[in-house]
Amino acid sequence: MPTLRGKVIAITGASSGIGEATAHLLADKGARLVLGARREDRLSAVVDGITATGGTATGVLTDVTRRADLRRLTDTAVEQYGRLDVLVSNAGTMAVSPFDELRQDDWDAMVSTHITGLLNGIGAALPVFRRQGSGHFVNVSSTAAHVVKSPQAVYAATKTAVNVLSEGLRQESGPDLSVTVVSPGFTHTEGVGKGASPEVSSAMTQMRDEIAMPPSAVASAIGYAIEQPAGVDINEIVVRPTVQA
Ligand code: NDP
Repeated sequence: MPTLRGKVIAITGASSGIGEATAHLLADKGARLVLGARREDRLSAVVDGITATGGTATGVLTDVTRRADLRRLTDTAVEQYGRLDVLVSNAGTMAVSPFDELRQDDWDAMVSTHITGLLNGIGAALPVFRRQGSGHFVNVSSTAAHVVKSPQAVYAATKTAVNVLSEGLRQESGPDLSVTVVSPGFTHTEGVGKGASPEVSSAMTQMRDEIAMPPSAVASAIGYAIEQPAGVDINEIVVRPTVQA
């Protein structure tokens, strides 16, 4: 199995949850990381935690809805480490609610984070990957892209878009680039129910506390996809707790 040692990997949404767990796992395996998120204190804590244990990580304040921020994230990788091997587009928000509540700002946030954010990542990393003649997009979707459950339609639609965009990107990528979708089920993170309408939030957090898998399970799936030898592309990994319907 090829090693992750020395690989340069950028991760969005690295300040908590799945992104944070992925950062720690990849750093432990010797990858050099550029980590993006909006909360400076939380991002710094992740970077400090990695460097304190001998890992290599740099934080770049990143709002994925801003094109220039993604460009800064990928530029930092190239400036500091000379290349970018992988972009993990993980940033996300699960502010779900019934349509009748008309929480249109939350709908916009899911669209702009998951769809525009992913496109901003592709726009920033694709030219770098083409120049290098290699590169790997790892896009975090959700089981919600496979099974729509009320009241998660807007969330599910944006995650379905992640899958569609990833498949189109894969078809256009040619033999030198890889595109992987990782679709987690319930994962024990602070993001579950955050920003959702109160009733939905308490149902989601209760379910999370009863059935969720740890974020390290998703991090392992991401690591597995990245560790594949040249010429092998894991197209999608769906990873759920066994008890999830
Ligand atoms: P968290 O809330 O812990 O993590 C979300 C991360 O995304 C945070 O680091 C947050 O950082 C970042 N983020 C949110 N919006 C933006 C933005 N506009 N720009 C940059 N960063 C942003 O939740 P999870 O770890 O659970 O979520 C990670 C991904 O996994 C998401 O895409 C989510 O949809 C997906 N997922 C999660 C599941 C679960 O059950 N937990 C199930 C299926 C999929 P900050 O606020 O500092 O910017």
